[in-house]
Amino acid sequence: MLPTLLIFLITSSVIARELPEAGMPDEGTGSYITFLPGNMPLIISIPHGGYLMPDEIPERPCVNCAKNQDIFTLEIGLGIRDAIHRMTGYYPYVIINNLHRTRLDPNRSIEEAADGNRNAGEAWLLFQGYIDSASALVTGEFEKGLFIDLHGHRHKIRRTELGYLLSAEELQFDDEMMDVGTFIEFSSIRNLVSTNSGALSFSQLLRGPLSLGSMLCDLGYSAVPSSEIPSPAPGEPYFSGGYNTTRHGSSAGGTIDGIQVELDLDLRGELSRRDKLIEDLSKVLLDFLRTHYFPDSAFTRSVDAR
Ligand SMILES: [Zn+2]
Repeated sequence: MLPTLLIFLITSSVIARELPEAGMPDEGTGSYITFLPGNMPLIISIPHGGYLMPDEIPERPCVNCAKNQDIFTLEIGLGIRDAIHRMTGYYPYVIINNLHRTRLDPNRSIEEAADGNRNAGEAWLLFQGYIDSASALVTGEFEKGLFIDLHGHRHKIRRTELGYLLSAEELQFDDEMMDVGTFIEFSSIRNLVSTNSGALSFSQLLRGPLSLGSMLCDLGYSAVPSSEIPSPAPGEPYFSGGYNTTRHGSSAGGTIDGIQVELDLDLRGELSRRDKLIEDLSKVLLDFLRTHYFPDSAFTRSVDAR
C-alpha cells in the first residue's frame, strides 16, 4: 500500500499541474493514464478498456477480483469524443486507463485496484486525480455537469445497463416510492433532482420518457432503467454503479452527477454496429445535457437526437 504522504503528493501534483488546452492530450506516468482535456460540462472515464501489460506491473495477485477487459470501450469512448466534437465543435473531458484490467482496476479503491503494486498505485492516483481536476474545472466554468463512467458487460441479457447507485431491488419499487426522498439521497444524480431544467421528479429522470435509458430506447436500443424496462426483473443481472460513480457523482455532494454506462457485448463487438452506437450515444448524451442541464448552450444546440 502507498504511504499517505505519497498519495497526497501525487494527487496534489495532478491538481496543481497546468493542464493542456482542450483537445490536446496530457499523458501521465509512462502513458498508463491519458487525460484529454475538454471545454464542455461532460466528463467520460474509461477504466476497463486498456491493453497495456508492462513487466513493471505484473498481474494483480488477487484471486476473486474481476480482471476481464471491457472490450472496445476505449475505442467507443474516443469515438464519442470525436463525434461530439464533429457535431458541436466542443470536446468532452476524457480520462483513460491504458493498463489492462489484469494490471489495474481503477473502478475500485486503491487497495483493490493496484493490489500493492507501487506503479499501479501511482497510475490509479493519476486516473482519479484527472477526474477530480476535470470535475473542478467543469464546476468552476459551468457550475454543474455530467460524469459518465463507460463500461461493457457480458451479461446474457443484451441491453445497456445504466447505474445510478440504486440496486435492482431498489429500482423495483414504484415511482411514488422512488420519489419519497430516501433513494434520491444516495443516488449519483442527486444534484440533478433539485436542479433539472424541467423540474422532473427523480423517477422521471431515472425512467421517464426523458431519461437517458428512454432516449436510448427511442433510437432503437434496449436499456434499463427506461420507460420500456423500469427495472431489472428479480434475478436478472444488473450493474448499479461502482467506485467511480460513487466518488465522482453527486451522491456525496457537489454538482457533477454520475452515471455508470454498461454497454452489452453485441453492441461493442461488431464494427458496423459500433460506429452507429458511437454516433447514437453521442447524440443521446448531448440531448440529455441539453434537456436537463443546459437548455440553450452552444455545445448542445446544434444536435437533435430524436
Ligand atoms: Zn467495467
